[in-house]
Amino acid sequence: MPGSVPSPLNPELRYNNYGSWIRRRLGYSAIRIGVDGGFSCPNRDTAGAGCFYCNNEGFTPGIRHPDLSISGQLRIGIERVRPGRKAAWAGKSGLRFFAYFQRFSNTHAPPETLDRLYREALAHPEVEGLVVGTRPDCLGPEVLDVLRAIARDRYLMVEVGLQSVSDPVLARIGRGHSAADFENSVRSLRASGIDVGAHLIHGLPGDTLDGFVGAARLLSALDIQGVKLHHFHVVAGTRAEREWRAGLITVPGYGEYVSACADFLEMLSPDIAVMRLSGEASDGMLLAPRWEHDGERFAHDVTRELTRRGSYQGLRSETQIDESKR
Ligand code: SF4
Repeated sequence: MPGSVPSPLNPELRYNNYGSWIRRRLGYSAIRIGVDGGFSCPNRDTAGAGCFYCNNEGFTPGIRHPDLSISGQLRIGIERVRPGRKAAWAGKSGLRFFAYFQRFSNTHAPPETLDRLYREALAHPEVEGLVVGTRPDCLGPEVLDVLRAIARDRYLMVEVGLQSVSDPVLARIGRGHSAADFENSVRSLRASGIDVGAHLIHGLPGDTLDGFVGAARLLSALDIQGVKLHHFHVVAGTRAEREWRAGLITVPGYGEYVSACADFLEMLSPDIAVMRLSGEASDGMLLAPRWEHDGERFAHDVTRELTRRGSYQGLRSETQIDESKR
């Protein structure tokens, strides 16, 4: 029998969903508007090759006007989502937005450039805070100074790519950092009072289910605030495409990934917000896997699996519930 789930989990979803978490954290709901700050990535600039699955054209389908200024992108992005959300949010505290610096490594620039772009986003009257995606090796002292100053009076979450806790897997896919680099970056951000989201991929070549589930243990011990899960997929124009076409690598199956997510969530601290359970790619760029179900249906199926097991996020976590975070 499914049974009930403990606070703060969403009783219907059986995990700590991001929407509910952010309402508890800030007292309002917010929609992320993706913007392109014109950044690049050190793993492509210096190493040249980049991650073997990387084609940023395929990973940021929501950013439609990268040629515009930050304020121009926000204006168009907000107007695009406003009509559809207005009715659903009627009676709530009004629409709020976060500017989401998503494409490439969004702290990979001189500090004065970062400060200018972030503050341009925050100057938009409807933008409450920032979400900044980056890599562990793009968070040096000068960058942290900029982020710390922003976080002093506005909401800021920094999303850091981990992808796997296995150093051999990270080397195999050309990430250009270790799991220890990730841990150090999280500690620096937390010491600066900044919320942290982690990105993790299931099914990378050479990785194992134990490694994926073990990452939940590591993240739970690190005082992160959110996690984004992604299944390994192959998009056009990547080294992964060449290996996949040559039959050297495979991608996870739908049922396999549903089960892996349930295993992961059982091991994850109930205090960590689940920001996403599956990845997406631009139309026409995704080669594999081509599942018939979308992300919403996938999340529904993970909940169904947790319900079938009579389980929920944190059931097997060693992290105790922190009442101060309720
Ligand atoms: S860190 Fe991100 S942008 Fe850079 S190569 Fe890897 S996937 Fe691409």
